[in-house]
Amino acid sequence: MPLQLNDSSSANFIQEIIENDIKSGKYNGRVHTRFPPEPNGYLHIGHAKSICLNFGLASQYNGLCNLRFDDTNPVKEEAEYIDSIKTDIKWLGFDWDDRLFYASDYFEKFYEYAVQLIMDGNAYVCDLTPDQIRQYRGTFKTPGKDSPFRSRSVDENLDLFSRMKKGEFKNEEKVLRAKIDMSSPNLNMRDPVLYRILHETHYRTGDTWCIYPTYDFAHCISDSIEGITHSICTLEFEDHRHLYDWVLDTLGIYHPQQIEFARLNLSNTVMSKRRLLDLVKQGLVTGWDDPRMPTLSGLRRRGYTPEAIRDFCDRIGVAKRNSIVDVALLEHCIRENLNKTAMRVMGVLNPLKMVIVNYPDDKEEELDAVNNPEDPAMGTRKIPFSKVIYIEKDDFLEDPPKKFFRLALGREVRLRYAYYVRCVDVIKDDTTGDILEIHCTYDPETRGGSSPDGRKVKGTIHWVSAAHAFDAEVRLYDHLFKEKGSDSDGKSDEMALNKDSLITLHSCKLEPGLKEAEKGDIFQFERVGYFCVDNRVSSPGHPVFNRIVTLRDSWKKIKNRQRQ
Ligand code: ATP
Ligand code: MG
Repeated sequence: MPLQLNDSSSANFIQEIIENDIKSGKYNGRVHTRFPPEPNGYLHIGHAKSICLNFGLASQYNGLCNLRFDDTNPVKEEAEYIDSIKTDIKWLGFDWDDRLFYASDYFEKFYEYAVQLIMDGNAYVCDLTPDQIRQYRGTFKTPGKDSPFRSRSVDENLDLFSRMKKGEFKNEEKVLRAKIDMSSPNLNMRDPVLYRILHETHYRTGDTWCIYPTYDFAHCISDSIEGITHSICTLEFEDHRHLYDWVLDTLGIYHPQQIEFARLNLSNTVMSKRRLLDLVKQGLVTGWDDPRMPTLSGLRRRGYTPEAIRDFCDRIGVAKRNSIVDVALLEHCIRENLNKTAMRVMGVLNPLKMVIVNYPDDKEEELDAVNNPEDPAMGTRKIPFSKVIYIEKDDFLEDPPKKFFRLALGREVRLRYAYYVRCVDVIKDDTTGDILEIHCTYDPETRGGSSPDGRKVKGTIHWVSAAHAFDAEVRLYDHLFKEKGSDSDGKSDEMALNKDSLITLHSCKLEPGLKEAEKGDIFQFERVGYFCVDNRVSSPGHPVFNRIVTLRDSWKKIKNRQRQ
């Protein structure tokens, strides 16, 4: 599957269809869409694409968008998922107002329509087993064979169907099938199953029903009942459109238009709910909202904002061809968003102690730091400075290569918002040879980070005063899967998990103000990345930080490479 490289969407083909429909007066110029999740899992970033599209089109054309739970399969559906789906849609910034519907509310209607099909000779009860039905269906190359039950009389069919409903038969003993054409080139038209027997308790209707409609039968009728104009779904339903149309036309009821678009596939992750559920069940992640999950609850916990996700959905656009979107684009979107809004702070993830030997032992200063250079309105704050500070381990090298502009023995760098310091000594452990601390001198004339004599330094590094630092746990995340692929080619079971997708650091040194940070607060740790206070494991005075993304933007690299 090709990698999608463009991230600028112009008017898409669905907008064109809708605009033509408005012009021609089809549906009296109305636009009414729906988002139809099945409550069998949490929403993921792929659903976000569908939500943005359906709710977005409705608002763009002064229309309406329904939320409809497509809950016709009692086996996998649960009330827990209903609440999470509602929460996630609202969080993304969309609202269904009073238009919340459940396909299960239409069970009686579906049944009546099925009876109508039987009475008109357009459906029959079939006793073939699922295996036999498959065999009789034929293949792309060979036509199917009529079921021996195809010619049952209307009366017999009506009787059997009502007894199916009453529970007289076991699962798989009988099904209701549409009577269409066993030699149709479209396999979906070879007498598809409309109803099956399932002796299961439904999370809403309980044991009222033991026959359940199939997706193909229930979906088009639900759309029709709700007066949907444009029923937007993903490409795999393209071959089902004929059946969608057949059901509505044969029943002679209001007929929305089905339009298919390419689903979102994202690199380095999986999006199949089955696979996501496996990850949760096997304990490979901590839950649906694990910050590495592509679920909306996972992304939210990680620190992704609704604005960034909506921007991402906008940029990927809507196409008719399947492709894989590089996760780097999603990361690019959150960086762009947070660059404008996130407060800058200093935090040292892997601390190395620095003693400033010529700084007075008991002196302390408050220095001015800018909260966000992109937004002067965010003002400044005071940060404490003292004789002993922490810097990042990898900002010091004993034996630096040529292009290393940070600290090394004999070299001078700027401490952000503070002073120039020069390294004069390295203290090591006698036995292991590990660097324990480094010693520097500072230039008191360079307070604030510039030198009156115009002397320049090549590097600026971040730091935190040791006496004032606040120790915190920081969690660094990487992609769940190492491979660039996605589950789109049906390979999700073969993709290997990235064992290093979570690294927990236990004693990071953060500037003291961060102790008060609250769940969901987002910061840029200067030079390090964007971080969010975890909304689950944090408590007042004990924030735990999730790294959202590093500052390095690999999407820009990808785009530049493309331009060359
Ligand atoms: P799965 O097959 O993993 O269970 P699904 O597509 O059946 O996922 P639904 O709850 O039925 O999940 O999806 C609700 C809506 O979201 C559908 O209209 C579906 O087309 C859309 N959707 C699901 N996944 C994606 C995706 N990756 N990209 C775009 N739209 C998607
Ligand atoms: Mg589905």
